[in-house]
Amino acid sequence: MRISRFFSQLCLLTLALTAPLNAQSAFAWKIITQDGIPYIPLEDVRSFYKFTPLKKERGSDAIQSIGNNATRLEFGPGERELKLQGYKLQLSKPYRYSETGDLLLSQEDVSKLLDPILRPVYITNRQEVKTVVIDPGHGGHDVGVRSAAIRESDFTQLIARALAEELQKRHYTVILTQDSNSFRSNQQRAEITRRQDNAIFISLHLNSGRSDTRGIQTYTTAPAAFNEHPVPGNEHDAANIALAFALHAALISRTGATDAGIKRSHFSLLSSLNCPAALVELGYATNEEDCTALNSEAYRQTLCTALADGIDTFAAAMKPDAAMSPPPAAGFTPPATYEESAPKATEHDQQAEEPQKKDPPKPSRRKRRSRR
Ligand SMILES: [Zn+2]
Repeated sequence: MRISRFFSQLCLLTLALTAPLNAQSAFAWKIITQDGIPYIPLEDVRSFYKFTPLKKERGSDAIQSIGNNATRLEFGPGERELKLQGYKLQLSKPYRYSETGDLLLSQEDVSKLLDPILRPVYITNRQEVKTVVIDPGHGGHDVGVRSAAIRESDFTQLIARALAEELQKRHYTVILTQDSNSFRSNQQRAEITRRQDNAIFISLHLNSGRSDTRGIQTYTTAPAAFNEHPVPGNEHDAANIALAFALHAALISRTGATDAGIKRSHFSLLSSLNCPAALVELGYATNEEDCTALNSEAYRQTLCTALADGIDTFAAAMKPDAAMSPPPAAGFTPPATYEESAPKATEHDQQAEEPQKKDPPKPSRRKRRSRR
């Protein structure tokens, strides 16, 4: 890791934060601009969330971590690697170091990756989840990836039906975008999804790669600041990553599968949706051990239970009264500072008041060419 040779412009920026009802003072974020990209020192992130440094080192493969007894963030060893509660996430921008040796995290990653996961109840356009649109990634003549052991469309159809059953037991309305006899285009599946209110969208797939690559990987739409032209899916940038994290954490913890990480990318179907959406790659069709597990009914049921648990975790955080009922522990744990930082309404206006929020800094909307 090198300190940027480019000119570093440092400015103190006190953001115009709305004072919460309990009159907490505004947090003054230090913004350090390198190569035109605004970064925030890890020290500010630590201070805002009231974390403590857990490990502080510098060196070619140093890992820095912060957290508390409920939350742990580890950076590295790669410059785009973050582990939150032990689950792998890919940062939008590589982290850097300031000239004084502080780890710097892009402002985009603080506001569009970290904060929605750590404090999903602060997502401004959150909507209660009533309907789950399940998208078996392939159907009809479209079989997806196939190997000697498995065919993606057969697998995704089986698991979609089992998941539908599990979610109906948990009182969700369930919509399937296609079945084994039909093939619907991305556009048709997006139209089905757009017709639903209070919905989330989960696309089920299998991965392919080298024969020794295995594990579960979760995707969601890349956030707006990195798109030349923001897509409809960007309306839910914050909810997208909170949903992806809840699903991924539940999947990895329930199955013990290899953690292939959470990534953000541009899938045309996900990008075109108007509700929180994630895509899960539940294993590799090209890996023998993964296929053995995926072909077992018991393992498929474990995957369904995990997905439903992840949906429950996300849905709990999206409830209008979520600030007063912390989400269950399956996916993510609210930081210990949660109670302190959550806005509190006075007793008489708890129903009427929209909670006011103390937000992490918003990323600038300058246009930049996506590097993807
Ligand atoms: Zn697929």
